[in-house]
Amino acid sequence: MTIFDKFQTLAANRAELLASGINPFGVVIEQICSPTEGVVNGHPVILVGTNNYLGLTFHPDCIAAACAAVETQGTGTTGSRMANGTYTGHLALERELADFYGYPYAIVFSTGYLANLGMLSALTGRGDVILLDADCHASIYDGCRMSDAEMIRFRHNDVGDLEKRLRRLGERASNTLILVEGIYSMLGDRARLVDIVAIKDRYGAYLLVDEAHSLGVLGRHGRGLTEEAGVEDRVDFIVGTFSKSLGGIGGFCVSPLPELELIRYATRPYIFTASPSPAVIASTRAALRILATHPELQDRLWSNAQHLYQGLRALGYTVGPEPSPVVAVIMQSKAQVLACWHYLLEQGIYVNLVLPPGAPKGACLLRCSVSAAHTSAQIDTVLAGFAALRDSVLIAQEAC
Ligand code: PMP
Repeated sequence: MTIFDKFQTLAANRAELLASGINPFGVVIEQICSPTEGVVNGHPVILVGTNNYLGLTFHPDCIAAACAAVETQGTGTTGSRMANGTYTGHLALERELADFYGYPYAIVFSTGYLANLGMLSALTGRGDVILLDADCHASIYDGCRMSDAEMIRFRHNDVGDLEKRLRRLGERASNTLILVEGIYSMLGDRARLVDIVAIKDRYGAYLLVDEAHSLGVLGRHGRGLTEEAGVEDRVDFIVGTFSKSLGGIGGFCVSPLPELELIRYATRPYIFTASPSPAVIASTRAALRILATHPELQDRLWSNAQHLYQGLRALGYTVGPEPSPVVAVIMQSKAQVLACWHYLLEQGIYVNLVLPPGAPKGACLLRCSVSAAHTSAQIDTVLAGFAALRDSVLIAQEAC
């Protein structure tokens, strides 16, 4: 026995993949030309597997802000927010995020992953309960593991199951934090937030919504599902990321509750890591301004999302439960999804490959994500690729 024995299954799976000539988890973007175009294996590809929902990664204002910050503040902060890593830009971004949401309190973390780790590990502890939707993201599960709270899953978007579990908790309901996502990252469906908020109020629990995939995507002002559902005054914590609609890297939590300020002093994933670099803070501030003042980007995103979702359905594919910028194509088997992913890449279309256990219920997915920066012609090209795929031997043998 050695410490490496546990890697045997992983090594065998990897060897099998490489032997098939397909290396989906070793893709290199050799050139990134725009938010929607790159070069892979020497060939141009349309990128339909990024989370660049508003297409802001090449926005001139964001680039200019990042360049100016590097010039004037250097490449990194080289320290924790608690030590030398808080610059005026970090505080300004926290104020701007709080103002954007209309809440008094905000904390910026170094990634969205760390925002979930940081919030869950500090907010809940021994004697508390976390009730999480079964389809929650890995960062939420990892945050729960870092907490000493009891973790209970409820069936995905099943408010009856949530209520049953809260009822069973009795008085402990008031020590319970419910965790859901605005848009679920794999299948693109929304949480049933109006019902969930009603239940959490009835039982006196707390609610944290991860809006990683819904910031800039839902709500008239882009504030996510919480805004769209009209429950902004009844949610306790919103977590989000800068790495999707804001085109940077970093994460945050905003809240109406003053206790958020205390969490800053109790959360290890905030204290024991370096703060975001000045360039990232500057580009994120610029991106947030653009998100808040250009609702037409959201309109374009949704027009592209509908185009792709309805187009794939019309081709006969099984897609996620509702239209969304995350468009998941559900495939039959691991072998099929691998071959189809490879086929699309050879047609110049990059989508995300999701193998078990990455998606709920062990599904195999071609996970597409749409951007406001896609042109209608690009979406047509993607649909033409999927049409050719449908007619190919890869799909013809199995109903898609
Ligand atoms: N929450 C959700 C729901 C996510 O999908 C992700 C990333 N895919 C994260 C958090 C983590 O965000 P980041 O990549 O910015 O660390």
